Amino acid sequence: MSARLISTDVLVIGGGLAGERCAIEAAAAGHDVLVLSVVPPRRSHSCAAQGGMQAALGNCVKAEGDNPTLHFLDTVRGSDWGADQEVARIFADEAPVAVRELAHFGVPWTRVRGGRNSYFIRGERVDIDESLENDGLIMHRDFGGTAKWRACYAAAGTGHAALYAVDSEVVRLGITVRDRAEAVELIHDGSRCWGVAARCLRTGRHFAVVAKATVIATGGYGRIYGQYTTNATINEGMGAVLALNTGVVPLGNMEAVQFHPTALAPSGILVTEGCRGDGGFLLDKNMHRFMVDAEPEKQELASRDVVSRHMAQCMRDGNGIETPFGPHLWLDIRHLGEEHLTTKLREVFDICRDFVGLNPANDLIPVRPTQHYSMGGVRVNKDGQAYNMAGLFAAGEAACWDMHGFNRLGGNSLAETIVAGRLVGRRVAEFVTTTSLDVQTSRAFETVKRAEQRAQHWLERSGSGPGVYDIRDAMAESMMSEVGIFRTADELTQADHTLSALLLDCDNAVLRSKAPGMNPELSFALRLKGMLRLAVVTARGALARTESRGAHFRTDYPLRNDAEWLNRTVVRWSDDSTQPTFSYEPVGLIDVPPGHRGYGSDERIEMKRTIEDYNGGLQEDQADHGRLPTTEPAGSRIRWGEWADQT
Ligand SMILES: Cc1cc2nc3c(=O)[nH]c(=O)nc-3n(C[C@H](O)[C@H](O)[C@H](O)COP(=O)(O)OP(=O)(O)OC[C@H]3O[C@@H](n4cnc5c(N)ncnc54)[C@H](O)[C@@H]3O)c2cc1C
Repeated sequence: MSARLISTDVLVIGGGLAGERCAIEAAAAGHDVLVLSVVPPRRSHSCAAQGGMQAALGNCVKAEGDNPTLHFLDTVRGSDWGADQEVARIFADEAPVAVRELAHFGVPWTRVRGGRNSYFIRGERVDIDESLENDGLIMHRDFGGTAKWRACYAAAGTGHAALYAVDSEVVRLGITVRDRAEAVELIHDGSRCWGVAARCLRTGRHFAVVAKATVIATGGYGRIYGQYTTNATINEGMGAVLALNTGVVPLGNMEAVQFHPTALAPSGILVTEGCRGDGGFLLDKNMHRFMVDAEPEKQELASRDVVSRHMAQCMRDGNGIETPFGPHLWLDIRHLGEEHLTTKLREVFDICRDFVGLNPANDLIPVRPTQHYSMGGVRVNKDGQAYNMAGLFAAGEAACWDMHGFNRLGGNSLAETIVAGRLVGRRVAEFVTTTSLDVQTSRAFETVKRAEQRAQHWLERSGSGPGVYDIRDAMAESMMSEVGIFRTADELTQADHTLSALLLDCDNAVLRSKAPGMNPELSFALRLKGMLRLAVVTARGALARTESRGAHFRTDYPLRNDAEWLNRTVVRWSDDSTQPTFSYEPVGLIDVPPGHRGYGSDERIEMKRTIEDYNGGLQEDQADHGRLPTTEPAGSRIRWGEWADQT
């Protein structure tokens, strides 16, 4: 990397599925595209995704009758009515096309095998004859919170297969990728974004990338939970930090944090929901299937927030298996048999063998809920355009688009990366054709200079202050114990105090290694303050939201409160201000009125306004929060009331 200033039409920050899919769309439209990535794209976190990608293709017997409207309905219910329903509709409609397109890119989807097949459904072995006509079509497996089998999968390596195929397409199109390069600050004037200042992780040198359009596709922020996450070490939320630091681009629903029921204990490596989808059980220390009592209808396949809470409660009640590393429960997939485990769940078999030395065909798997997914992120409109900042877009887990609301359904995230990647890529391509690269290079160099000075300050600081990894570990302990599955005002207040103090500690922290170039400690130090700011807004957002919705569960406010909290948290915090500012916007147009999800509690506080009234003033209200106009008029994608025929 030698140039100090690079210019391009489209800059995509992030080489995961969302970023690369977006880059393909913009490049295919004839634009010059540059992808920046902390790691080589194929090592992006998307590669770790296992179980499947939701799309209503309806190819096997248990998927018969499926359609995008049912998928839309499941997604809205899964979100606990926190989702933008128009976005959920766009997503469900476009997912089948995006998934089939992946087959053309080369994804080796597991296929329907016509004739007799054996499955495990609700604890029983069942033989089903798949139609010979459907032989060879993309197969589905069951996942939590869905009415039909809908998850398309490639064994238990769906993300790996998808990312390699999409990255091959990036290579085929000749898109430039700069890996081991990190975006560290947006170049902007308060209302228009012109690219980023970036840091080369090999040399420590900073440079500017100026672009007509910039896309944040940096994945989630699970690492604010330290080791208590299934996320890769690169998921430190830096895209959200880039946006937050502007002070004008808000983040949405940061308190909506998903805990996955089955992470391996104690390492936290994920064991896919596909295990339960294929018929696996959860057992307590007495070998009892507690989920059958807790959720007689959906059992182990209620949504993740519901299953995680039942598991946490089961362990709180003393029914977990005690170990020196804390309690866990068991996942039992022995009955699926070795052939199934070494084919359809091959990666799970390997993970169990390689990381805990057990054979899941013979042994129980120790599991417990762990932080997994960030529903919150850079708040964008349905085109993927960030609030308040022309030329800035976001897609994938980094964005709050917001089709997941307060709980993402399993398999809906991989699908979101490719659906949003396609759609936002198209919008970016349109945007770029109507604009020119009209930026003063002095602005870009000033941004680079500030970034260089930040790195220099870290290198020059000496004394006996705390180490950056000590601060990180303290942040993780606070997040997991006080901003976890069950939340209370006391714990969240304590978390706010702890995290705010840690944020101040960053200014006194010192590095052990003073190398200016390839220095992981320095690279991490440069991210730490941003991570703590994300942690603070997560804790404060959770403290302010005095209700329970999806994954946000307040034991002191256990009911969903549609009268007061049918809204999205919006937070801004410029890097030169000491406190964040919170506000609340309507979730979006409501087509499906709030009701029971079909699992979990049916108790809630009903909304008092009519749907017409709620929908009426919504556009102006969201515009007041900074939402930019979209290419299609509001509501154009909703098929009003069509869902009612499906229930
Ligand atoms: C273990 C695991 C299994 C999962 N399984 C499933 C599943 O079966 N089905 C499903 O739907 N979902 C699953 N998910 C969720 C899903 O994998 C992710 O939500 C999705 O892959 C995120 O893709 P992304 O493109 O948004 O981000 P990522 O794949 O996380 O990519 C982020 C990219 O941003 C880059 N980056 C980050 N910060 C910067 C920066 N500052 N500058 C430059 N580059 C940067 C990184 O290098 C990386 O290339 C799983 C998640 C985990 C943790």
